[in-house]
Amino acid sequence: MSYTVLARKYRPRTFHEVRGQDHTVRALVNALDYDRLHHAYLFSGTRGVGKTTLGRILANCLNCEQGVSSTPCGKCDCCIGLRDGSFIDLIEVDAASRTGVEDMRQLLENANLKPSMGRYRVYLIDEVHMLSTSSFNALLKTLEEPPEHVKFVLATTDPKKIPVTVLSRCLQFHLKNISPRTIRDQLQEVLDSENVSAETEALDVISQAADGSMRDALSIADQAISHGGGALTLANVSDMLGTARVNEVTAILELIVAGDRNGVIEFTQEMAARAVNYSDLLASLQRSIHAMSMFKVTRQLTEESLVRFAQKLSPEWLQVAYQVLLIGTRDLRFAPDHRIGFEMTMLRLLDFEPVEAYPVSEPPERNPISNTDDSSSVEQESTKTNSDPVEVSAKQDHFDEQESRDSEVAETEDSSKQSEISFEWFDIVKNLSIPIELKQGLYKTELVEKRGENLVLRSEPKDRSFWTESKILEVAAAIQDFLGESCSVSMQEGELLTETPAQRFSRIRNEAVEHEKDLRDRRKRERQERMEAAKQELENDAFVQALKRDFGARIGEIRLH
Ligand SMILES: [Zn+2]
Repeated sequence: MSYTVLARKYRPRTFHEVRGQDHTVRALVNALDYDRLHHAYLFSGTRGVGKTTLGRILANCLNCEQGVSSTPCGKCDCCIGLRDGSFIDLIEVDAASRTGVEDMRQLLENANLKPSMGRYRVYLIDEVHMLSTSSFNALLKTLEEPPEHVKFVLATTDPKKIPVTVLSRCLQFHLKNISPRTIRDQLQEVLDSENVSAETEALDVISQAADGSMRDALSIADQAISHGGGALTLANVSDMLGTARVNEVTAILELIVAGDRNGVIEFTQEMAARAVNYSDLLASLQRSIHAMSMFKVTRQLTEESLVRFAQKLSPEWLQVAYQVLLIGTRDLRFAPDHRIGFEMTMLRLLDFEPVEAYPVSEPPERNPISNTDDSSSVEQESTKTNSDPVEVSAKQDHFDEQESRDSEVAETEDSSKQSEISFEWFDIVKNLSIPIELKQGLYKTELVEKRGENLVLRSEPKDRSFWTESKILEVAAAIQDFLGESCSVSMQEGELLTETPAQRFSRIRNEAVEHEKDLRDRRKRERQERMEAAKQELENDAFVQALKRDFGARIGEIRLH
C-alpha cells in the first residue's frame, strides 16, 4: 500500500472533523440545514487553516444524493466521488496558475449547462486574489447573474487584493489561525490513530512552529517521523526545525530559578560547543515567559513543561525577565559576539530574584541575599563588566552590605540592615495571597522589625483610616500562611524610613526605562560621531578642497548610508 501523507490522510471530510473554525462551521451548518444558501462564499485566512477543505465539504453537502444537509451520507456516488476526486461537478481551480482572462472564460463557459452528476456545479477557486483584472470582470458577470445550479467558493490568503465588486457579492468568512493547543490536540489524535509514539515536548514545538496552520503541523510531524525512524522525538523535531529545544529552555529556567550562576555559565559553554543560535534561544525564552505570564491570567498553558515554573515565578519577575530578554536580544548585535551577549543577559536575569520567597525567621547565612563565596565571585565579575543601570536590584543590596562590613561604619551597617529588611518585606508582600486592594495598601508600608512572633509594620499617617483592625488581622493570617508559622502583626504610624515595596517596584521599572534611554542616547551619539568623521573626511579631500577653492563650493547636508 502506498503511503499517504498525514495532512492528506487526515484532511477533514465532514464539518464535524474540522478543528479550530467553530464560528464558520456553525454558520455553514445552519445555512445548509435551514436552506439559507448563498451563491458565492469567500474564505480568507492564512495558509493551511482549512479554506479549500471547507469548500470541498460544502460542495459535498450541496450534492449528496440524500439531499442538501450539513451531514452528507458518505455512501452515495456523489459522496464517494468527492472523496476520491472523480466528482466532475466540483471544478477546482488554482488561480495562481490560471490568471488569464481566456482561462476564466473557458472555465465559466459551461456554467449555464446543468450539472452532469450532482445538484450543483461548484467552482472552487483557490488564491482568487491572483486573478487578472479582466479575469475578475469575467467572473463578475457570472457572479452578478448566477445560474440556479451554480455555487462559487473563493479562497484567498489576501482578501485586500480582491475588487470590492467581487467582495460585495460573496458571503465572506475569515478563518482564524488555529491555536497551538488545538493543533497539539489534533496532532495527538492523529498520531494515536497512526500508532506513532510522540514526546510531549515534540508536540509542543511543532504546534508552536506551525504558526496556526494545521497542514504545516501535520507536514512537520510527517517529516520528523520519517527522520526519527517511526517515532516523534523532541531531538528530531528540533534538529529539523533548527529551533532551540524546549528542554534547553526548561534547563536554563531551572538554573535561573535556582539562582545557579555557575550552572548558567556551564550551560552557555555547552550551547557554544553545539553552535546553538543564541538569538533563537533568547526568542524561545521570551516565548516561554510570555506563555507563563498568560498562564497567570488564563490558567491555561499549552507547554506542559512550563507549568511548574509558572507556578513558582511571580508575575512581576516575569515582566522584568521579559524586559531583560527583550533588551538582551536587541543588544546582541552590539555585543562582541553572540555568546557574550547571551551570557550577560542571563547574568542580568539572575540579578532579579523575586522568584520564591524565603521565611523571615531564617538565619542570615541561609538567606538568598547572602551567597556562597563561589557564586559571589562570579557575580562580582558580572557586575564589574556590565555597568548597565538595570543591574541595580536586589543583589546590589548584598554588596552594600559587604562593603559596610568592611568599613565597619556603624551607620552604614544600620542602613544595610534596613535595606535587607526592606527587601525581605518586599518579597513577603508580593507573595501574599490577599485581595489586591489590601496588597496595594501593604505596598505602602515598611517592616520595622520582628519581635518574636510579632511583625511590627509602619504606615504613613495619611493611611490611618485604611488600616482597620480587621484588615490587619487579614494581613497577619496571610503572612502566617505564607511563612508557615504563627505570627501576629501590629501597625505603627509614622514617617517611613526604608524603601517600601511600591518604591522598589517603581525603581526597578525606572531603571529599565533608564537603560532604554541610555541605549538610545548612545546610538544618537555614535551617529553624530560618524557624521562628524564623514564631514572631516570630506573637508580633507583634495578634490573637495579644489572645488571649494576654485568654484566656491560648500558642503551641504551629509547623508550616512
Ligand atoms: Zn451522499
